[in-house]
Amino acid sequence: METIETLQQYVDQSSRIVFFGGAGVSTESGIKDFRGVDGLYHLKYKYNPETILSRSFFQQHPEEFFEFYQDKIVQPTLQAQPNTAHHKLAQLEQVGKLTAVITQNIDGLHQMAGSKNVLELHGSIHRNYCASCGKKYPLETVSQAQGIPRCQCGGIIRPDVVLYEEPLDESIISKTIQAISQADLLIVGGTSLTVYPAASFLDFYQGDRLALINLNVTSYDSKASLTINGKIGEVLGQIHV
Ligand code: NAD
Ligand code: ZN
Repeated sequence: METIETLQQYVDQSSRIVFFGGAGVSTESGIKDFRGVDGLYHLKYKYNPETILSRSFFQQHPEEFFEFYQDKIVQPTLQAQPNTAHHKLAQLEQVGKLTAVITQNIDGLHQMAGSKNVLELHGSIHRNYCASCGKKYPLETVSQAQGIPRCQCGGIIRPDVVLYEEPLDESIISKTIQAISQADLLIVGGTSLTVYPAASFLDFYQGDRLALINLNVTSYDSKASLTINGKIGEVLGQIHV
């Protein structure tokens, strides 16, 4: 396919590639996204995912929060393995062509595939802490808890993820902006680019090679120099490092 050849040329000619991705990067690992055809938005659930995963919902309905979180996020993630997209990005970093993976995902699959410089805009389910005393806990404590996971002090153990209504980490934001503004190729994939401020960081890109890989059209398609409609694992799987 002509578009894959163009992406290959881009990759061959670049040495500061930055990848920016979202939930679509992990669907081929069996973790559902939010807005894709099979996404969590289409579940017949009492509340939509963004309501449940918000700070106010967490505070007001912790039991329902953890029911959804365990069922739809933690358990599927525990079963998941990195796919071809995660592996290819790790290889690109290893050979010195990719400087950062910026992800909206909280599943830790990029690190599991071997990526080192992963900027997790929305945190990680693998880190957890007591909302009262700050004590840190591994994912197992949360995944094995019945109902609301509790600290020894009685406080609620919460994931170190950015809930809706919560701000992003400042130091991750500045590293993200730095990486994107210095990139010579920006590959954006598996994200609807509808979650802010995450999507707005793309505006810091100064280069002229912006490749978008997604199953459907996004609002950034017109800004891209190359758009590929396809599965990101299948697309990146055809790229030679
Ligand atoms: P989104 O659900 O809004 O959009 C996902 C996009 O990826 C859709 O446009 C979909 O068509 C596309 N897509 C799905 N599978 C794909 C594939 N195999 N190849 C290419 N494209 C594919 O996700 P978002 O933009 O990341 O925003 C949702 C928010 O929820 C983010 O904060 C995200 O981190 C979080 N979330 C995370 C996970 C996870 O950690 N795996 C899962 C669900 C949601
Ligand atoms: Zn505590």
